[in-house]
Amino acid sequence: ATPISTMIGVGKAAEHGILIRDGQALQTASHLTTLIVDKTGTLTEGKPRVTDAEVLAGEERDVLGLVAALERGSEHPLAAALLGYAEERNIEPVTIRDFVSVTGRGVTAIGPHGERLRLGNATLLDEADITLGQAERRARELEAEARTVVYLAVDDSLVALFGISDPLRADSIEAVRRLQADGLRVIMLTGDNAHTAAAVAREVGIDDYRAGLMPEDKHAEVQRLQRAGEIVGMTGDGINDAPALAQADVGFAIGQGTDVAIESAGITLMRGSLHGIADAIEISRATLSNIK
Ligand code: ADP
Ligand code: MG
Repeated sequence: ATPISTMIGVGKAAEHGILIRDGQALQTASHLTTLIVDKTGTLTEGKPRVTDAEVLAGEERDVLGLVAALERGSEHPLAAALLGYAEERNIEPVTIRDFVSVTGRGVTAIGPHGERLRLGNATLLDEADITLGQAERRARELEAEARTVVYLAVDDSLVALFGISDPLRADSIEAVRRLQADGLRVIMLTGDNAHTAAAVAREVGIDDYRAGLMPEDKHAEVQRLQRAGEIVGMTGDGINDAPALAQADVGFAIGQGTDVAIESAGITLMRGSLHGIADAIEISRATLSNIK
């Protein structure tokens, strides 16, 4: 692209709230064949809320005191949902020690009576050989409704499970359809479990998705597609998306995302909508075809 047409394209995009880093990002955006989207905070609003709380042992207030203590130290969006739920009920967090945040799993600590606390997904419990038992059926039901399930175990027993809903952004279904109509293969990646991922993917109209991914898995998936000849765009909002964003041919950061995500991206969307990506791609194609 000539410097002038590039400037025009970058300016046009800026009018739509799309910040394009340089001419290279603009040019590559016009050639993308695959777009990878992170689920949480990209397809969804990223403001999860607790919809179901099932206490299997003990009093709800005691259970929530543990949950509040554990999630106080976490920056995960699910932590905010659980903390909000406890705060609405005026629950005081108990005192815990040896807090550990386990990437892609949840959080652990030692409780006030020396008990081992684990709060997180099924993998976190599985790795401690804690079985779900009767609760598994309820968990599957919640996941089929696109809820993420967070489990609380005390020592070797499951004591509570929480269904957490993170609704799709109002325009995600339409934006995915538009990107697909633009000829892009749209793939959803998520650290969330396979059941919830399947429900969200179906709801939003994506049939290609991978679940249970760690940040390095997202990065590896981008690389795998690139080796297969795809020109890959990637969008995500979290710290865990940064390695994949940096690896992608074009990274799209969501304006309200973390600074790390924005630094790793070639294109930043000021509005938190996937329509911004379709806008960016369509503007880049128009800019590039004008100068041929
Ligand atoms: P994603 O942002 O795609 O959900 P993460 O790697 O951040 O990916 O998280 C993967 C999964 O780990 C979450 O879906 C959740 O099940 C679990 N998890 C991580 N942190 C927490 C936490 N603080 N509390 C509860 N669950 C958590
Ligand atoms: Mg995320």
